[in-house]
Amino acid sequence: MSILLQNTINAPIELKGITLHKGKIANLKILPSPPNTGITFKRVDLKTDNIINASFQNVSEATLCTTISNSNGVSVSTIEHLMAALYGKNIDNAIIEIDTDEVPILDGSSKDFVQAIEKVGLKSQSSPIKIIKILKKVEIKNGNKKISIEPSKTTLEIDFEIDFNNPIIGKQRNNVNVYESDLNDIYNSRTFCLYEDIERLREMNLAKGGSLQNAVVVKNDEVLNNDGLRNDKEFVNHKILDCIGDLYLSGHKIVAKIVCSQGGHKLTNELLRKVFSNNENFSIFELKEKIIPHSFLNKAQLKSIA
Ligand SMILES: [Zn+2]
Repeated sequence: MSILLQNTINAPIELKGITLHKGKIANLKILPSPPNTGITFKRVDLKTDNIINASFQNVSEATLCTTISNSNGVSVSTIEHLMAALYGKNIDNAIIEIDTDEVPILDGSSKDFVQAIEKVGLKSQSSPIKIIKILKKVEIKNGNKKISIEPSKTTLEIDFEIDFNNPIIGKQRNNVNVYESDLNDIYNSRTFCLYEDIERLREMNLAKGGSLQNAVVVKNDEVLNNDGLRNDKEFVNHKILDCIGDLYLSGHKIVAKIVCSQGGHKLTNELLRKVFSNNENFSIFELKEKIIPHSFLNKAQLKSIA
């Protein structure tokens, strides 16, 4: 199998579970799809206008989770943990069939998606992979929240920090190299919330499917989940997971360095919109062995991207 070719999944995957915000049961299938088709969602509970491309341009809401919608207003929410698994596990093309408007939350992390993809494996396809290389620094600031993206030689590095007014969460910072680091702690880190926010979310008719089975809940200086945390930096690691998933709405793997403080779905989407609004900020190229400039990639580094 060439390391330079696109991949889809080797066999269909089926997953079922409750959705976080609406509290419905969702049936989800991940199916193989042809080269250069990217990640596409299909609402199988609807007969027409049911295709939604996983693109940053289709993000219609990004407050608590990432929602994408097509031009007819058909949407699917909470796509970010699935998108992160597809990015990290090198799935370039797939159709995601779903029978409701939200992806199941499962255990609140990407763990089940990652395990399901690993179980069926990848199928190499006949087209070269495409990479987005960032050429200029782009930054978004909003109050105390900021995110920037800048050129990097061969990696996608994400440096993320959070600062919560809570003794358990507090300040956490982590830095990962998406193509070279062991991402297991990132994949396994669950979505989290403060106990005092649950009431507010329920009043907004959200988090109806939320429970200690699919979220870390923090009350003052206590983690309410019986087994505690899965890793020392689970909070910031989950934010990195969200960031990877949201970045994949660019359509391809990215070579860049991201620095983010206090950001989230909305800020990441604003960043992508700003990057792609100007052709001078990026280039997209096919990773063909013959055309790779020596200065850009050597074989060892290439392997980590492909
Ligand atoms: Zn999340």
